[in-house]
Amino acid sequence: MDVIRLLPDSVANQIAAGEVIQRPSSCLKELVENSLDAGAHSVRVLVRDAGKSLIQVIDDGSGMSVSDARMAFERHATSKIRDAKDLFSLRTMGFRGEALPSICAVAQVKMTTRRTSDEVGTALEIAGSHVLRQEPCQCSVGTSIQVQNLFFNVPARRRFLKSDQTELRNLIATFQHIVLVYPDIAFTFVSDDEIIYDLPVSTLKQRIEGVFGRSKSKLYTAQLLEIEQQTELVTIRGYVGKPETANKQAQQFFFVNGRYMRHPYFHKAVLQAYSGMLPAEQLPPYFIYFEIAPDLIDVNVHPTKTEIKFADEQSIFPILSATVRAALGKFNVVPSIDFLGGNIDMPVSDAQMRANAKAPELHLSSGYNPFSSPKERVTPNWQELYEPLKPQQQQIALPDNDFIETQLHPQAVAGGYIVCVTGDGLMLVHARRAHITILYNQLLTQLQNRHGAGQQLLFPEQLAVSADEQVVLETLLPELKYIGFELEKVAANQYDITALPSVLGNKSAEAALRAILARSAECVTNIGDGIRQRIALTLAQSAAIPMGKSMTEAEMDDMLKLLFALPSHRITPDGKTVVVLLSADEIARRF
Ligand code: ADP
Ligand code: MG
Repeated sequence: MDVIRLLPDSVANQIAAGEVIQRPSSCLKELVENSLDAGAHSVRVLVRDAGKSLIQVIDDGSGMSVSDARMAFERHATSKIRDAKDLFSLRTMGFRGEALPSICAVAQVKMTTRRTSDEVGTALEIAGSHVLRQEPCQCSVGTSIQVQNLFFNVPARRRFLKSDQTELRNLIATFQHIVLVYPDIAFTFVSDDEIIYDLPVSTLKQRIEGVFGRSKSKLYTAQLLEIEQQTELVTIRGYVGKPETANKQAQQFFFVNGRYMRHPYFHKAVLQAYSGMLPAEQLPPYFIYFEIAPDLIDVNVHPTKTEIKFADEQSIFPILSATVRAALGKFNVVPSIDFLGGNIDMPVSDAQMRANAKAPELHLSSGYNPFSSPKERVTPNWQELYEPLKPQQQQIALPDNDFIETQLHPQAVAGGYIVCVTGDGLMLVHARRAHITILYNQLLTQLQNRHGAGQQLLFPEQLAVSADEQVVLETLLPELKYIGFELEKVAANQYDITALPSVLGNKSAEAALRAILARSAECVTNIGDGIRQRIALTLAQSAAIPMGKSMTEAEMDDMLKLLFALPSHRITPDGKTVVVLLSADEIARRF
């Protein structure tokens, strides 16, 4: 008996869908790319529940005839190529004729479409590859496709989807990859009735501003340098950030012939151009667009893959690097990195130290104050610090508590260190790191015990966020409340900070929040101890005294008591040394 048979189309389509449509964002990508291929001037995207209930794309493109509307949902039906040789001169986004049949195999799809030349349009309804209805309808020129209940008939795949926040972030990323290529097309993105993006037709620079700029007063794109290079092989244009704009979450985008791509090798070429200009772990933003003959790149890559193979990567590398370098040189960009700014914990220069030395006193916050709190006696356990230093411990007498109370006279030394003479030698404490460690423990306890209040602000500080940041922020809001931040949403992407953690004193709540958002972005889907630790650490770094700030003896005293009352005080939560001990032996050896 023969056992091989052809699969019915609906099954074949579902299998194909597993490849092409993996999540709401892949569906969005296919729909918007179809709109672009259809010559749309305006594309509107609406999603509900991060695309899980609805993804709708409305365009004013060519529209389809009655029979094309039906054909579009057949496998390998495409208007974009006719034979294999067309593959090598491809100028459209799609060509496989796979997207629509895949989507309609795993969702409930409603489409209306009309060409300019037709008086009436066509409405079509398909669910799980079955056509439920097709009839004439009144609709405007162009195409509207609604994809409802993605994976309604494939529960396993539906369960595989991530949280709404993650899927929405994926949708927004996909949308960004497209709109950054087509500034001459208007786009809107509406999520659960909220306008996330409303991007008019503009120049590329304005488009970048529209996507990543937060406020009109501080232009994001003012910090970008234009690059442009035409060679026989490739044309490179776009924007790169000045070195001082480098950060840990920099926006970095490559596009080739109008498609977003990832390219680790070219990324290295860009970084090479910046060599010597960036602090460790900081990356520059860039928006780089390549144009190259279509037959010099492999277009036949998988639709969900963003890596693209170039025939001649080795030749492009130096061209790219030199182009970026030239832009940095032309604008006479000298490295000017503010090591003290934000929360970068780095050594300070002499000049900065002198500037800091002028600051006469330490401004401590009025609410929680690590230096004024426990007057009750803490049991310092810093003696144990010497243990690893002592091969024959029993021979050396440890100072007892009374000794600490009466004999530990901390002295400040230049650069922000505290020195104490102990019975056994010298103890050096890094004041800023000690403060970070103390604040971190305090804040983490607040977060874990789920209580804590902030200091109300008479005049709220304003916080403008990007769409991605807003998603992160909304998820973090309850946690932020426990460390004292209260925010009120006043408009899309716009918040008022009405209360801030008292540990911040007169430091900027906005800067602290931004640092928290940046640090939390990658793990926001899972609110747990990991993210609480990140929040506590980031805020502690924002609130702690800067390196080199002068302190009174009483303040140093309190700081040491609080530090040594902690179970872990030798290193900061992120692993930096807080305390260095020099035993008498060690000192003797040095002489
Ligand atoms: P591909 O884009 O690879 O050709 P799709 O399955 O995405 O395959 O689309 C099939 C066909 O349906 C396209 O080739 C195009 O002719 C038509 N089509 C799809 N979306 C639109 C749209 N928004 N406007 C006009 N035609 C469209
Ligand atoms: Mg397509």
